[in-house]
Amino acid sequence: MTEITGQCLCGALRYAMAAPAQRVTLCSCHFCQRATGTERMTLPVFNLSDLTVRAGTPATYTHVSEGSGKQIHIHHCPACATKLWMTFERWPGLVGLYGGTLDDPDQVTLAPESTKQIFLSSARRGTVVLPGIPAYWNHAATLDGTPERAYVVDVPTLVEDMMIGED
Ligand SMILES: [Zn+2]
Ligand SMILES: [Zn+2]
Repeated sequence: MTEITGQCLCGALRYAMAAPAQRVTLCSCHFCQRATGTERMTLPVFNLSDLTVRAGTPATYTHVSEGSGKQIHIHHCPACATKLWMTFERWPGLVGLYGGTLDDPDQVTLAPESTKQIFLSSARRGTVVLPGIPAYWNHAATLDGTPERAYVVDVPTLVEDMMIGED
């Protein structure tokens, strides 16, 4: 496998992943919009044990999730403030990458069977819903694990046009 690597804006913090992402979340919730400054976070999820910090020492900001009340630890560069990855009180063995920090973003594949588009209810008008990838208004499942309804569009579709078809 080609090694998966990434870094912050200034290059002081660098990381590598020893194995491919298990899944990818494309999330438009307000947390992710604020965290990235854009309408959608690309969050590939890996085993935490596969993460190696190659250079630098991250600083950490801990945020309490409004939805779950659980802590999310955001690891960022103390020099340039780029956020690189998150770890979770709720899922101790996992790490979510801020996908924009990958050296080659195409190293993470948006495979339909392991990718989800979530929180489209919070996405700005004009956000494009990607074809072939399950899309959800909010979470993919409720807190007790019940699956929510998934929508799959055949062609790139504006989020406001997807809403017209909701029953
Ligand atoms: Zn930096
Ligand atoms: Zn989110």
